Amino acid sequence: MRVVGRKTARLVAGQIVRDITAEGLNRLPSEAELLKRYGVSRPSLREALRVLEMYGVITLRPGPGGGALVNPVASHQFATASSLYFHLLGLTFRDVLTTRLRLEPMMARVAAEQVKAGRQWGGRESSRDPELTDVGFHFHVARFTGDPILLFFADALRNISVEISNGERVPPQVDTDLAVSHEHVEAAIKMGDPARAESLMREHISEYVSILETDFPYLLDHVIEWG
Ligand SMILES: [Zn+2]
Repeated sequence: MRVVGRKTARLVAGQIVRDITAEGLNRLPSEAELLKRYGVSRPSLREALRVLEMYGVITLRPGPGGGALVNPVASHQFATASSLYFHLLGLTFRDVLTTRLRLEPMMARVAAEQVKAGRQWGGRESSRDPELTDVGFHFHVARFTGDPILLFFADALRNISVEISNGERVPPQVDTDLAVSHEHVEAAIKMGDPARAESLMREHISEYVSILETDFPYLLDHVIEWG
């Protein structure tokens, strides 16, 4: 493996990302056009495309009608990347929940502040997105904060949590049947009551963690696994 080639590939990958964002591309031009555009060797270009594919930026489809499709940016890719580092650090489900216990109440407060400032809470019922029921409630709150970076982090942690819960067969109603339900938290957000929204969300997540501690004690020490 030539080091120079690898460095070139990284530079080309960076340039392709700049072009994707600048031109709003949802598909990359043909290989012949890309070779001309970036003036690099075929192996360097292919390595650049593999790097982008590894990060989930593009999907390479072989054959006619195929090519390099640009994926929409999604936090599950960020969740996958994060889980690699969490795995290497030996972090557990408990660590993820500890952070969620800090983040989620803060986001509920920010969401209620938005309502208080006059922004209309969209409501999950008005959404046609099936993701925005049940567990999607947390995504909805995160999105309503209007903070894209916070949404990205929070949703990555939520994705990791959901993956572990599903993998260990935790029934989804464990989250939705809590004494402080999504509806309670949502009502406080809708009323534009930041303090109440924050404390209810804290109770909601705390109760979830307590149930896991009682009914699925092994689960909290589950080390996050990548891949
Ligand atoms: Zn919940």
